[in-house]
Amino acid sequence: MENFDLVVVGGGIIGVAALRSCLKRHPGLKACLVECEPELAAHQSSRNSGVVHVGYNQKPGTIKAKFVVEGSRRLRQFCREHKVPLVEDGILVVARDESEVQVLDELHKRGLANGAVVELINQDRLLQMEPHASGVAALSAPEGASFDPRAVVLALADDARALGAQFYLSEQVIGLAEDTNTVRIETTKRTFTTKILVCAAGLYADRLAHKVGLGKRYQMVPFRGEYHELVPERRSLVRSHIYPAPNLKFPFLGVHLSRTFDGRVLVGPGAVLAMGRESYKNTQVNFGDLLEMAGSPSFWKLFASADFREVAQKEWKKSLFASEVLKEAQQLLPELRTGDLVPSRAGIRAQLVSDSGQLVEDLTIEESALTIQVLNAVSPALTCSLPFADHIVDLIEKRL
Ligand SMILES: Cc1cc2nc3c(=O)[nH]c(=O)nc-3n(C[C@H](O)[C@H](O)[C@H](O)COP(=O)(O)OP(=O)(O)OC[C@H]3O[C@@H](n4cnc5c(N)ncnc54)[C@H](O)[C@@H]3O)c2cc1C
Repeated sequence: MENFDLVVVGGGIIGVAALRSCLKRHPGLKACLVECEPELAAHQSSRNSGVVHVGYNQKPGTIKAKFVVEGSRRLRQFCREHKVPLVEDGILVVARDESEVQVLDELHKRGLANGAVVELINQDRLLQMEPHASGVAALSAPEGASFDPRAVVLALADDARALGAQFYLSEQVIGLAEDTNTVRIETTKRTFTTKILVCAAGLYADRLAHKVGLGKRYQMVPFRGEYHELVPERRSLVRSHIYPAPNLKFPFLGVHLSRTFDGRVLVGPGAVLAMGRESYKNTQVNFGDLLEMAGSPSFWKLFASADFREVAQKEWKKSLFASEVLKEAQQLLPELRTGDLVPSRAGIRAQLVSDSGQLVEDLTIEESALTIQVLNAVSPALTCSLPFADHIVDLIEKRL
């Protein structure tokens, strides 16, 4: 049996950043990370838009709002220091018609309250910055950037390894039991004990939390974000990131056009209800996950909302018919034609739903005496990851 001071479950950006941050502050600690996949960053932390966000979407006063601006600056600094690909090309959020200008006003207010650098610009400035875009006005966030998220996770892991961390890959945690002084962790290969446990298990966060009696009022609901990308000869239509003004009732950002750190232009993602926590394609159905969801009152309360059903229906249409994605993207970039878009990757958003059927929008943690359960590390948690990891270490320190 292996004994540790700290065990972290989950090799995505949150688990790896928390491990590194803890060892930076407490270099002598005996610490390890357990990840069920053969490599780090196999799920959300590599299957995403790779955008360093800026802090205009988050409602002031939330934990996300507190961490996103600091996180954005620290993440860009981390990329520069660790030679991780980073392109600092700014973000534009576009009002497609006059009715959306008030959404930009709200985002501008939120951005200023959160301490972000944001500016409202008129149509002329928008067209100078993105000559092929269509819109009546925009919010400009010059600190927005593209980066390589997998490379960040690997660089964080290298730092943690240099500080003495051990990594156990291809080992799934299947059992947790907490007693007065230790937590017993059963994996598919061995048993660990630890003085402190941090779980940052992304799509499975609720299941691990439930094993130690936490997070009982939450159910994870997976939403697949499907991307298309522009064919190489049409990439010049987009200089940086063009987002639509979002529907503020939902935490999804809408189909946007986003130039990646390696010069591709992603179009997406949608947010379609996935048929399983790892169902990256429509054809992948996990009946166990579906039955669990169908048995959850949280899910049915969410589904009872007419607003949600309307969005869900729209998203399904986009998932089934690429022409629907094209139509939505054309509202931002009218020159797009059939044939300009080809299917690209997909990611699955781990979205916590509360027992009242609400999509939980903020970063959420629950704690027991010896465990810290990260329940909702929802977008833009890549951007928030470094200060959020420090926050997790503050919680660890209370137990040391
Ligand atoms: C489509 C999409 C686009 C996004 N775009 C952006 C963006 O542009 N900018 C931004 O800031 N954020 C973005 N996000 C959000 C961001 O990607 C996530 O919030 C972040 O990656 C979450 O990291 P994590 O470590 O919590 O989860 P994950 O990366 O999912 O890591 C969890 C890990 O836990 C492991 N695990 C689970 N259960 C077990 C178990 N029982 N035993 C062992 N290991 C286990 C999993 O294998 C996984 O590797 C996006 C998310 C999605 C889905």
